[in-house]
Amino acid sequence: MLTTLKGLVLRERSLGDNDKFLDILTDGSGLIEVLARGVKKPNSKNASVSQLFCYAKYCVSESGGRYTLNSAEPIRTFYSLSEELERFALASYFAEMTSFIATQETPNNEVLRLILNSLHFLSLKNRSLLALKSVFEFRLMSEIGLIPNLIGCCECLRYSAPQMQFDLRGGRLFCEMCFGTRDMTDVVPLDMRLLHYLRYIALTDMQKLFNLNIAREYLVPLTNITERYAEIQLDRRFATLDFFKSLTNGQIL
Ligand SMILES: [Zn+2]
Repeated sequence: MLTTLKGLVLRERSLGDNDKFLDILTDGSGLIEVLARGVKKPNSKNASVSQLFCYAKYCVSESGGRYTLNSAEPIRTFYSLSEELERFALASYFAEMTSFIATQETPNNEVLRLILNSLHFLSLKNRSLLALKSVFEFRLMSEIGLIPNLIGCCECLRYSAPQMQFDLRGGRLFCEMCFGTRDMTDVVPLDMRLLHYLRYIALTDMQKLFNLNIAREYLVPLTNITERYAEIQLDRRFATLDFFKSLTNGQIL
């Protein structure tokens, strides 16, 4: 049976001399593995649509839950990401994280939209890499239902205070008074600016999500928090993240 699905290639694996397996995050059917025959031959009509970060309309034949690529029409390619190693590493981290989530969750088109937007802004080169990383990590948690309660202090409901404590494991806030002398691990202090950024990323409309302008001195603290939050909530550390961090080495990019 032939089916047409819009999707983004999150991973490609070589199979012999000529073929590839593609992991494609699709609109409506979640993550699927597609066998792409002959696409490593330079004259293959499907060579360009069988590459990492290609977003296309894929016509596939399905039989017993296995998909084989028939033809495809590219919609958007993000090949320019491979021109710069840091950008490519960050895009690979987004792809690895998305694949991990997509194998566990039911299909969620907002996740596809989030990664497409993130790759778009990453390839435009007019956004800070750390800002894009924070937005992606934290919004992804929000899209898959791991959104923390950022409304206010979890005990007294206070909406703002000069400083709040963010419990990364419990996904909740404490004002200083309610936090008191608790001895908890995985808690980070937030000033109102950091809290504003987190609320914005988790809750604003997708259309406005990437308009967030993060002050330079907040890029590192914010990205450390979103990274730890995602790592704790998913209970998973990604090799592509370690690679990205080894390249940037603490620089503010
Ligand atoms: Zn309180």
